[in-house]
Amino acid sequence: MAASLPRVVRTRVELRAALAAAPRPVGLVPTMGALHEGHASLIRRAASESRTVLVTIFVNPLQFNEKADFEKYPRDEAADLRAAGAAGATLVWMPAVEDVYPAGFQTTVRVAGLTEPLEGAARPGHLEGVTTIVAILLGMAGAERAYFGQKDAQQLLVVRRMAGDLGIGTEIVSCPIVREADGLALSSRNVRLAPEQRAAAPVLRRALLAARARYEAGERDGEALRGAMRDVLAAEPLAAPEYVSCADPETLAELATVTGPALLSMAVRFGAVRLIDNEPLG
Ligand code: AMP
Repeated sequence: MAASLPRVVRTRVELRAALAAAPRPVGLVPTMGALHEGHASLIRRAASESRTVLVTIFVNPLQFNEKADFEKYPRDEAADLRAAGAAGATLVWMPAVEDVYPAGFQTTVRVAGLTEPLEGAARPGHLEGVTTIVAILLGMAGAERAYFGQKDAQQLLVVRRMAGDLGIGTEIVSCPIVREADGLALSSRNVRLAPEQRAAAPVLRRALLAARARYEAGERDGEALRGAMRDVLAAEPLAAPEYVSCADPETLAELATVTGPALLSMAVRFGAVRLIDNEPLG
């Protein structure tokens, strides 16, 4: 049976009215569109435990620290509506920039320490853009649960911290990373990779798995684990690493020695396309 298209709302007023009449519980899935199986897995999870599944599709200018990245971000409304509906979305908020940030908008939501390393250091302002939009979405949706991918591990931690700190009563649910058969984590930016870059991109996964193998063989030195990832990346000429990290999974502080759980993560550029991936240990 073909899934029906979800109801689409554009303005804040329309969203508020749709939610007032919507059956509960509500599950919220925030996205920037260009939906792929990673997004679909979040929507399916939301549909399995919600009567209303609200997917938001908004390429949030505040979280882009490079204008070209914002302009080149893939957008396809019709395909996104079909994909969202097929995965179980019942309501889609697709606002214009002015609907989200009307004239006079002046608020920034910023989490402090957790946003300093990794993506925060590499992409100034990015995580503040994320927390600002997610605070708006959580506030408007009033959902019982909101679903985020482990793919953006730091984003998930920061959003969880923000929701806790601000007393937002929405449960933040973490969903596993969905990958291509060759290990590349699905990302809307993958379509911008040239064929030879696409062929090289699974090196992120191989680097993470090389460090995991060292860990499983007993290695607990943080620098040795970071070195194992750097060595694999260095063998791929098209890959330009931005950072590799072996950090505490709660604070994101780099670890000298791994004594408990850890988070391996990295950001790697292939030309203009920047990819991230991560792997939890322990
Ligand atoms: P984005 O549209 O890239 O902002 O992503 C929207 C949500 O989908 C975020 O919570 C991401 O972490 C999640 N997501 C993106 N790619 C994946 C993936 N490959 N596996 C699981 N979740 C993902």
